[in-house]
Amino acid sequence: MTIYLHDTLQGRKLAFEPLKEGEVTMYLCGPTVYNFAHIGNARPAVVFDLLARVLRRHYKLTFARNITDVDDKINQESVATGKPIDAITAQYIKAYNDDMGALGVQPPDIEPRATQHIDEMIAMIKTLIDKGFAYEAEGHVLFDVGSNPDYGSLSKRDLREMIAGARVEIAPYKRSAQDFVMWKPSTPELPGWDSPWGRGRPGWHIECSAMSEKHLGNTIDIHAGGQDLVFPHHENEMAQSTCAHDGAPFARYWVHNGFLSLDSTKMSKSLGNVLLVHNMIKDIPGEVLRLALLSAHYRQPLDWSDETVESAKKMLDRFYGALRGIELTDAERSAAEPPDALVEALEDDLNTPKALAEMFNVARRLNKATADAERKALARELLAAGELMGLIQSDPEAWFSGGDDGELSAADIEALLKQRVEARANRDFAAADAIRDQLVDAGIQIEDSADGTRWRRS
Ligand code: AMP
Ligand code: ZN
Repeated sequence: MTIYLHDTLQGRKLAFEPLKEGEVTMYLCGPTVYNFAHIGNARPAVVFDLLARVLRRHYKLTFARNITDVDDKINQESVATGKPIDAITAQYIKAYNDDMGALGVQPPDIEPRATQHIDEMIAMIKTLIDKGFAYEAEGHVLFDVGSNPDYGSLSKRDLREMIAGARVEIAPYKRSAQDFVMWKPSTPELPGWDSPWGRGRPGWHIECSAMSEKHLGNTIDIHAGGQDLVFPHHENEMAQSTCAHDGAPFARYWVHNGFLSLDSTKMSKSLGNVLLVHNMIKDIPGEVLRLALLSAHYRQPLDWSDETVESAKKMLDRFYGALRGIELTDAERSAAEPPDALVEALEDDLNTPKALAEMFNVARRLNKATADAERKALARELLAAGELMGLIQSDPEAWFSGGDDGELSAADIEALLKQRVEARANRDFAAADAIRDQLVDAGIQIEDSADGTRWRRS
């Protein structure tokens, strides 16, 4: 077994080997908690949840996903709404975890919060000053990018070109435009902590360097996040951590997901073209959203539209449809293994389109199979595949009767079907057809078979 991952630093797919045999550490940059997560924010949460599931089949994984709960955007939200900062962060941490849970994202092993790691950040900043990689100026502490010859290697930027091309007005306390803030002073109304440089608060990048060091060690196996984080966030994290640790590599593999766009425009809070998961899950099953997010390869862009959701729903209809009517005991379910081809696809840089095609294959064979034993064996394979992907673990009947949109409830439909059976028994075919038409108009498809009538929402 070899897992392959595309590494942003080397710019190619590599065979994955953890630092310590049998154990893997993974860090994913988590949300800044000042509002609800949009479906683009959910992409890294879902993709790296799947990677965690794939890794756990072979390794003891320690997966950390942080929470940025000190940030100027949170302060601005507090000023704008009059709500205390703690109330804002508590509300959105809960919403994030609930919303990601609805998408089948398993909780990470560790969920460190920035505000609970200020001492570690101060210690790392001190180390960087002592080693000559950072300097204090007017209550700020800045990382001196010129002191690190590798700066720019992750994002493939040339520092000299960056300096020459810099159009930003340089703050007077900076030696160079590219130097970035690790600590900044706070006014009395802003959150702040005592430090050797006065009362202040950390910059964003030092949070992740300090929290990953504390929980996962100096060198982590996998560092993950969205592509937009490569520069400056991850470049700066890497500079801080490698310089603080005397050149020890920060992350052995850098894995980044591509962007989700809406009608070809990047979905982002600042552009305002966002679909919030919190609202979407009121109408769309979380499982549909999860499958839609996994339908494209994680490094490719994903353009979101109604069709993305519609085709994910249809795929789930196919899978659940194939599983319908097959009874399995818990023991039969738990001893099942996913198909080798699906596991290989996922271990090959998380090739989810191929993995889904393999699930389709199994569903197709299951639909064709007639012998009971074969149908059971294929159903077990399909369910095991779904378990690894975080999909199709609900009861198929519940899937087809779910999605109640306030028009016809499952009980209403069952009652109408009963009336239809009675009408037919009385040879009142006009009444039976009228009921059928009523159901079709309400978007309910019915299938008559020797075992009775099944229905589902179309
Ligand atoms: P933020 O809260 O903006 O820091 O983003 C949290 C995570 O979501 C980061 O890993 C971002 O890279 C990722 N992200 C933000 N917007 C998108 C998007 N439109 N598509 C995919 N990932 C995104
Ligand atoms: Zn980070």
